[in-house]
Amino acid sequence: MGNLTTLLLQDVRFREALNACMNCGVCTAICPSAEFYNYDPRKICDIVQREEDVEIEKLLRSETIWYCGECMSCATRCPRGNTPGLVIIVLRKIAQQLGYFVDSEKGRQQLILKQVIGGCILKRGYCVHPDMVIPELHPEQGPIWKWYRDNIKDIAPKFGANYKGNGPGALRHIAEKNLKEIRAIFEATNAIDFHHIIDRFSDEKRGTTPKDIYLKNIYTANNNTHNR
Ligand code: SF4
Ligand code: SF4
Repeated sequence: MGNLTTLLLQDVRFREALNACMNCGVCTAICPSAEFYNYDPRKICDIVQREEDVEIEKLLRSETIWYCGECMSCATRCPRGNTPGLVIIVLRKIAQQLGYFVDSEKGRQQLILKQVIGGCILKRGYCVHPDMVIPELHPEQGPIWKWYRDNIKDIAPKFGANYKGNGPGALRHIAEKNLKEIRAIFEATNAIDFHHIIDRFSDEKRGTTPKDIYLKNIYTANNNTHNR
């Protein structure tokens, strides 16, 4: 058994997620991500259960582990009671810990996710907040997104939101004492350490490239190998 298998087995989620996989492919048949991406959860389970470090390292450095949508449909169908989606969560964690995530286009997006989602939770108490979704960096939001942001104070009440207001409602202001509790959870669970790890390895990968250019490349890069 190699070092990477030892790392995998240290995580209780991995031990819970993978009994003996019989390679039946039912997980791949049900998987919505496999419908769109060059992606096969059956192969991932097969690789990790063979316990060969060289193959597992290739997997950790590849695009593959970032295609899973974590819907857990696979868990409902596996005849062996496996949960490939949970195996993949642990693979992602190790790819982050060891810095392998920067070797793939989808892996490098961890930096964006850390900033946009992780940073938003810490600063505002929301996973996603319109103030953080900058139109120039999110063309997928479509042409009205800028208009929406520019006019959000007028628009939000029309769908019952309480944009930056006190009291209940979507998009309400989150008080500093509540944000402190969120930060304490991030500290206690070591989530904040993961933020630092992602920053450190991303900085090493970026080298002398200016930060804004590196970020824009992450947003826009497409090697056209992802989809079927
Ligand atoms: S459904 Fe279960 S047993 Fe079949 S390939 Fe997927 S993980 Fe393995
Ligand atoms: S959790 Fe991941 S591997 Fe499982 S069905 Fe959903 S997308 Fe596919």
